[in-house]
Amino acid sequence: MTVSRRVFMMQAAAASGVLASQQALAQVKLEENDPQAVALGYKHDSTKVDNKKYPKHAATQLCNNCQLYQGKAADAWGGCPLFGAKQVAGKGWCSAYVKKA
Ligand code: SF4
Repeated sequence: MTVSRRVFMMQAAAASGVLASQQALAQVKLEENDPQAVALGYKHDSTKVDNKKYPKHAATQLCNNCQLYQGKAADAWGGCPLFGAKQVAGKGWCSAYVKKA
């Protein structure tokens, strides 16, 4: 194996490792006890939201019909810019909910 081929193989291996770790990061699910989740009253299940604490919450408000949800409406989990690389539940909710236009 020539030096340049060996370098190429090492770069390819390193790149695939980076890709794999990025994919793993993208699939990390948000925990309800995450400090940011607690601060925003996030729940995986919108029906479990404390309506006394969040009187504007309605059962029809779900992450998958929120303006900020980055998954498709049918996706069980999807991204939300408020939680970085962590995914939120499609049936979840937080107090930053904005109805999708
Ligand atoms: Fe869900 Fe919207 Fe709150 Fe993000 S901002 S967690 S998508 S309700």
